[in-house]
Amino acid sequence: MTVPEDAPEWSPLSGSVVGFDLDLTLLDTREAALVALRAIDPELPAAVDLGRCLTSAAELRAELSRHLPERRIEEALLRYRAAADAEGVAEAQPMPGAAEALARVRGHGGRAVVITGRRPETAAAYLRAAGLTVDLLVGGAAGPEKVSHLRRHGVEVYLGDHPLDMTAAAAAGVFGVGVTTGYATADRLRAAGARMIVSSLSTLVAGPEPAPHPAR
Ligand SMILES: [Mg+2]
Repeated sequence: MTVPEDAPEWSPLSGSVVGFDLDLTLLDTREAALVALRAIDPELPAAVDLGRCLTSAAELRAELSRHLPERRIEEALLRYRAAADAEGVAEAQPMPGAAEALARVRGHGGRAVVITGRRPETAAAYLRAAGLTVDLLVGGAAGPEKVSHLRRHGVEVYLGDHPLDMTAAAAAGVFGVGVTTGYATADRLRAAGARMIVSSLSTLVAGPEPAPHPAR
């Protein structure tokens, strides 16, 4: 997809298949993660890099390994997942503009697709709890694993808060939109391949109704 500089009314939400990352893009899962970390050890939330815990299962494991002895890691991960799936669900909140952004995509006949590193059952429960509806949910795909799913599902635009989201979008030939509602700055997202930066999904729904891409 080319940057439609000649069409200022163009919106990434006007794509026919629009992909979204989950954590810190569509959902604020910080409180859910804190609940899960407290289930391991009440001291952990103050010690860990929360952004890293929310990046992927591999990053969560690596972050826990900085604070816990190796022999405790497996048990800690089990506790984390159990608490995230139980008490954590009620803490999942939609990011500002998330419901409206999904409604925009689906309102013009587009498909809203979530591609996330989260386990599918957890992702589905969080979306439900936050009152968000999507057309397709692909779970268990973190970082570079997103590339093949972006291609397979014909995603045209992918919105994410993490540099790895933008790297995956660029590798898949997808128009990456960096949303600075996570821990990454606009510069980092741009350096990772973001073609557009927005400070919030609300920014995308604040404007006029999206016009179709002029090339389509
Ligand atoms: Mg994210």
